[in-house]
Amino acid sequence: MMRVDGTVASDDEGGRNGGGTMDYGSAWARVKRRLRAELGEDVFASWFARLELEAVAGGTARLTVPTRFLKSWIESHYLDRVLNTFKAEVEEIARIEVGVRGTGAPVRTVATGAPKANPASGPLARLHAAGTPVSVPAIAPEPRPAESGDLSGTPLDARLTFSSFVIGRSNALAHAAAERVAAHQGEGALYNPLYLHAGVGLGKTHLLHGIGHAAREAGRRVIYLTADRFMYGFVNALKTQSALAYKERLRGIDLLILDDVQFIQGKSIQAEFGHTINALIDAGRQVVVASDRPPTELEALDERVRSRLGGGLVVEITALDEALRVSILSARLAAVRASHPGFDVSPQVATYVARAITANGRDLEGAVNRLLAHATLTGTAVTMETAESAIRDLVKNREPKRIKIEDIQKLVASRYNVSRSDILSERRTAAVVKPRQIAMYLSKVLTLRSLPEIGRRFGGRDHTTVLHAVRKIEKQIGEDSVLGDEVELLKRMLQD
Ligand code: ADP
Ligand code: MG
Repeated sequence: MMRVDGTVASDDEGGRNGGGTMDYGSAWARVKRRLRAELGEDVFASWFARLELEAVAGGTARLTVPTRFLKSWIESHYLDRVLNTFKAEVEEIARIEVGVRGTGAPVRTVATGAPKANPASGPLARLHAAGTPVSVPAIAPEPRPAESGDLSGTPLDARLTFSSFVIGRSNALAHAAAERVAAHQGEGALYNPLYLHAGVGLGKTHLLHGIGHAAREAGRRVIYLTADRFMYGFVNALKTQSALAYKERLRGIDLLILDDVQFIQGKSIQAEFGHTINALIDAGRQVVVASDRPPTELEALDERVRSRLGGGLVVEITALDEALRVSILSARLAAVRASHPGFDVSPQVATYVARAITANGRDLEGAVNRLLAHATLTGTAVTMETAESAIRDLVKNREPKRIKIEDIQKLVASRYNVSRSDILSERRTAAVVKPRQIAMYLSKVLTLRSLPEIGRRFGGRDHTTVLHAVRKIEKQIGEDSVLGDEVELLKRMLQD
């Protein structure tokens, strides 16, 4: 039997930070290196980069990943491989368990010689998963939403300031308006509301936080809320019958910043949203909102609210041009270098990355993280070749593959452990409705089919049913990062 470092590991069940983890750490690092070498950079980055060893106890290695989707994917495709690779390093490892970090979700165990794990997967499958689930204590508690009626808002991210925002052609107007609004002193408001809209990752949230920081520093009372936080706070306030107090407090502020207002929906909430906006604007308080679409396209809101939102200054941030991408990337690289002095990326590589990644700022940030991971893991400088493979999956495919609705239905069905005919059927149980809605959503975003056409291909459903599904999944993705990851990975699998 091979011992990792000659010491005897603690088999103490409860001792997550006992001897066990430390003793096996370097063996685990070798396991990951072998997986990377055997499976290739792409596969490794997609599925294993975030797989971590939590503890080894009684021959069982407990591994964790950040999402349920990763967990089920690894369990159904790679569990034996991980087990065998680990076993080759540390003979006593007889079982692997995969858990989800921070949820305390049940884990499935595979033992040496056990049949391949059932490919049941996804959040729904877990509800009716057979097998021998074992509970693992949560590693970190889930972040708790603040107390009901609490109006402290969503915290501001310290990194998202005006000074870290890079200005270019596509965002200069939005930035200028944001700065003026934040700096404005005295009576009345400037452009009210200031309405920023842009596609994902183009810097809306960054600018909103920038406004929040600057206005707070100037001593103004600022509340920053995401749409779901607004709804959550309001619904809770209603439940605890303190709606009046909630409204009063909301109106006792100088600057209300609302992010992702496209998610606001529901009759009473949107009515209340309308009242709140009106009350603030009429009282001369500044309102700033961001959305992924112009006010005229906020279908979930009624006409009066839409026109009020569009009645101030509406500014669009357009796609980042190459010069701006280069500047954002250089700024990010410089920021990372401050904490990782050895991390060096040549201007050529930076230019390549900025050229290759055209989509948005979020992917640029992702690229920097990949490059850093690569440099740290291999201890070598980032070359053009390594950069290319590190960011391959972030690079927008120039010729997107034609994806068939049928393939979407098949993949989603298998991921959620239902059949394709379940998805096409009239059944309305949660176990079928969710995958059906996800499949409809993916059909809308990955194909050019119209809503009525998609409805027909889903067992002859009405286009409004499809629209409802698309909106619902859109909204849930915005609120639930686990689901967001799942859907993102399904997309990638379909686009592969
Ligand atoms: P959005 O809210 O529009 O989806 P974000 O504000 O979250 O986009 O931006 C995504 C990422 O890109 C963030 O890390 C953000 O800091 C970065 N980013 C976007 N635009 C810029 C910019 N002009 N300067 C610096 N970073 C930017
Ligand atoms: Mg945002």
